[in-house]
Amino acid sequence: MRFASLGSGSEGNALVVEAGGGTTLTRVLLDCGFSAKEVERRLARAGLAADTLSAILITHEHSDHIGSALTLARRWSIPLYMSWGTARAVGADDAAGVELNVLWGDEAVEIGELGVLPYTVPHDAREPLQFVFNDGASRLGVLTDVGESTPHINAVLSACDALVLEFNHDLDMLETSRYPASLKARISGSYGHLNNDAAGEILAALDRSKLRHLIAAHLSQQNNTPELARAAMAAVLGNAATEIGVATQAEGFDWLEL
Ligand SMILES: [Zn+2]
Ligand SMILES: [Zn+2]
Repeated sequence: MRFASLGSGSEGNALVVEAGGGTTLTRVLLDCGFSAKEVERRLARAGLAADTLSAILITHEHSDHIGSALTLARRWSIPLYMSWGTARAVGADDAAGVELNVLWGDEAVEIGELGVLPYTVPHDAREPLQFVFNDGASRLGVLTDVGESTPHINAVLSACDALVLEFNHDLDMLETSRYPASLKARISGSYGHLNNDAAGEILAALDRSKLRHLIAAHLSQQNNTPELARAAMAAVLGNAATEIGVATQAEGFDWLEL
């Protein structure tokens, strides 16, 4: 399995995950949170064409995740996967020329060579899901857009080989920012986004015995810095051999192999 981000943050998210190879290659896009032109440009930058995608998976209906998913699905005949709540929120349940596959929380599906486990999380959307990918040998866990930890999240993300984990904001930076009070409350609330300490606490609670790669994702460009996210990751990992990285809004991150 290998994976790469096309960009991560409140202005757009998209992650490519591949398994298999040759005639059995499966390549999915998790979230499609940019314009169609921009997704195609970013795919091309990673050496990929949109018509080679096996599926587009969507976590929830916020624009930095749904973006141009319906347009691209229609244009290139790519099957869409999302919860019923997300489908209803974006009109995918009733969209002509779109193949919708409804995901149920905590019910695994297979897409070609990839095992896909959608799992439920607290976030201010209709029926948000996050994902664990599995190719039979390794597991990649993804968690962004989540207000707080749950015992369920800790169980699902334990013993992954790689994690893409939200480190959205530094709480002091958010509190002293110029954001209106209502927005600060939304972001830091239990249906909002993880601050660096909260993400660190989730990481600390997980079984990390297999963890080879940890990527901080969905960083706020106003209320966080890559250095603070790195420090929060390092504080938990200590001397562990896990490689750490930070996904950026402009570039995402380059291919990582498991
Ligand atoms: Zn988001
Ligand atoms: Zn969101």
